[in-house]
Amino acid sequence: MKIEIINTGTELLLGTTLNTHGQWFGQELFKMGLRVQRQVTVPDGDAINEELIAGIERADAIIITGGLGPTSDDLTREIVAEVLGIDMITDEHALRTIEFYFASRGYEMADVNSKQALLPVGAEIMPNPNGTAPGVYVPPRIGKGCAIFLLPGPPRELYPMFENEVKHRLKGLVGGDIPQEHKELKFTGIGESDFHQGVDEELGKVPDLEYGYCARPGEVDCRLIGSELAVAEGEKILKQTFGHYCFSDDGKSMAEVIIDLFEEDGHTIAFAESCTGGFIASRLTDAAGSSAVFDQSVVTYADSAKIAMLGVPKELITEHGAVSAEVAVAMAEGALELSNDDYAIAVTGIAGPTGGTEEKPVGTVFIALAQYDHPTHVIRRLHKRARQSFKFAVSQDALEMLRRRMLDLTDLQDRY
Ligand code: AMP
Ligand code: MG
Repeated sequence: MKIEIINTGTELLLGTTLNTHGQWFGQELFKMGLRVQRQVTVPDGDAINEELIAGIERADAIIITGGLGPTSDDLTREIVAEVLGIDMITDEHALRTIEFYFASRGYEMADVNSKQALLPVGAEIMPNPNGTAPGVYVPPRIGKGCAIFLLPGPPRELYPMFENEVKHRLKGLVGGDIPQEHKELKFTGIGESDFHQGVDEELGKVPDLEYGYCARPGEVDCRLIGSELAVAEGEKILKQTFGHYCFSDDGKSMAEVIIDLFEEDGHTIAFAESCTGGFIASRLTDAAGSSAVFDQSVVTYADSAKIAMLGVPKELITEHGAVSAEVAVAMAEGALELSNDDYAIAVTGIAGPTGGTEEKPVGTVFIALAQYDHPTHVIRRLHKRARQSFKFAVSQDALEMLRRRMLDLTDLQDRY
């Protein structure tokens, strides 16, 4: 099924609003086994006309976002009707819904809003409980063989409408076609080049398997697309070669994986964060279910905070520096004692751009894992990156240390 997306909005081309719909649709449709063939962004007004005419020729379905508002530059409805040569009528039910939307909020509806209840004859309204602009579905029989979805631009209106109104219609259109299998495996601790050397050739021999990589800080995602058999074969090759580095094979994030592992064991965790400024805790709490396993995180940025809050001996800092294996260990053990949790992770490092020395250049970080009744393990790493991706890479190492400990894999080793 060929799907095209047309995003409308001058703000997207001026760069004042980041066009997030492309990424979002790509992911949502891919989860359904569907793919976006083409995506184009056009300014407000009648620029959409040309794209629509060309798109209808090529695609089985077109998703248009934005331009459903009441103002004169919101022309999506009108242009779709014009291109298809269909008259517009007012949908009385939609009009009453818009009137009610305003009345229930104590506003009077302006006359221009009534145009939001207009739709091409034969099209269907897709209700919008989160805004005034209803969506419109043009089925292929009146869309010159192409299904056309008109959706509002604001994500909080668009996302639920896609879920409730678009998904099942798309599934109906796909009908008996079996969508391809797809799988995303996530790895940490190895880089893209390892894949080229380690598995590329073998993966390339699997018939009908499409595969590709996406490298990000501290993580490489590998996607497999194809028949069930081909994807299973690809997964086998990846796991045989890099199994220990694969932290997720079902789309779960590192944080979700950690939460699952801890929940299974009924264990809890605390963090003592310096250079990550709370980012490890932030990542963990992005995932649902974190309250069952995550207890506390102390952000001790200054030396004085490390001493006062975690009981790091002052002499240790004077002797070895705040960024040192010794201080990382003391921070982790301090956090373990303070929290009474089963595990504590501490990080201390130099994010840069200043503060590095010859012995400890910018990007140096020490990560310590303390566990009750267990010797504390500390590693040294070097992540020469901009501050934000430095924080991500450090948090990834910290969480990976936990994962490896939970699964009894070998502990992470120094790399600098
Ligand atoms: P609309 O009035 O339906 O054209 O939608 C306008 C609102 O949705 C504005 O707040 C836009 O910034 C937002 N919006 C529209 N398109 C996108 C997009 N592709 N990505 C992110 N936000 C968008
Ligand atoms: Mg707009």
